[in-house]
Amino acid sequence: RNLKKTFPIHGGVLGGKVGEVVAVDDVSFSVEPGETLGLVGESGCGKSTTGRTIMRLYEPTAGEVEFAGKKLFQLKPEEMRQARRDLQMVFQDPFASLNPRQKISTILEEPLIVHGLGNAKERKEQVQELLHVVGLNHIHGGRYPHQFSGGQRQRIGIARALSTRPKLIIADEPVSALDVSIQSQVLNLMMDLQEQFELTYIFIAHDLSVVKHISDRVGVMYLGRLVELAPRDELYKKPLHPYTEALLSAVPVPDPQAKKERIILTGDVPSPADPPRGCAFHPRCPHVMEICKEARPTFKDAGGGHFVACHLLDKQG
Ligand code: SF4
Ligand code: MG
Repeated sequence: RNLKKTFPIHGGVLGGKVGEVVAVDDVSFSVEPGETLGLVGESGCGKSTTGRTIMRLYEPTAGEVEFAGKKLFQLKPEEMRQARRDLQMVFQDPFASLNPRQKISTILEEPLIVHGLGNAKERKEQVQELLHVVGLNHIHGGRYPHQFSGGQRQRIGIARALSTRPKLIIADEPVSALDVSIQSQVLNLMMDLQEQFELTYIFIAHDLSVVKHISDRVGVMYLGRLVELAPRDELYKKPLHPYTEALLSAVPVPDPQAKKERIILTGDVPSPADPPRGCAFHPRCPHVMEICKEARPTFKDAGGGHFVACHLLDKQG
């Protein structure tokens, strides 16, 4: 609720704080158990920061995250450490997130040791089981990350996230670094695992086509703000925010008859250190009105759980 995260900007000769970037600006949403919420936006829109702040990998500036009845930002370090068992993260670059000097078996066993789960023999069995569930039963745990392909490394990253039997996994662009053919394999694996382990996902991606099949609902972020959030089919068929519309127009359609106009956004994404007044999208919006330059649109339900922050909604009544 009302999640906010700012980072200081340092500058000048003395390197003191000269300003701040509002990376996540008043973002609110919920995720139901067993659901997949897709979170989409261009790089720098705050989607990764949102994920990391929920996990408290970054300390929040303001707002609140409630997870299974616990207010995460109020937990003491030891309580947060315990809560992390239920919340895990999968990162974009499996190579960077796996210690190159650690054997795969060590990488997978580590979270079990940290959380005091099982004795040495049980942990060893667990590691085998984890490799099995991510489809790597044939590999030897004594090997090192560089001995695996990108897709295999991401499977290892997923196995590591699963090791503590979490309830929620925040996956930050888990397939963005992979070849298209490998992407769908990893996505399918994640969907299978979701069923098998009753997982809830927040799935972060930079384009709408990646999250289409996996998501129950999809949220779109722009310059640190959540601008639209809707049930999946609703968002893809009836986007209400002009930014979502533009993103969707870039997604290839399988049906060549279904012609659609590609909406080209003019101008660059403004600097998050100096976001435009009013609606942050207004300098690039094809539907911009006078009010958009002055007043920030509120994020509200347009009906049926379809939330949008755009003044066009008020105009339509
Ligand atoms: Fe465009 Fe105005 Fe809606 Fe912003 S509020 S998306 S500028 S119409
Ligand atoms: Mg990112």
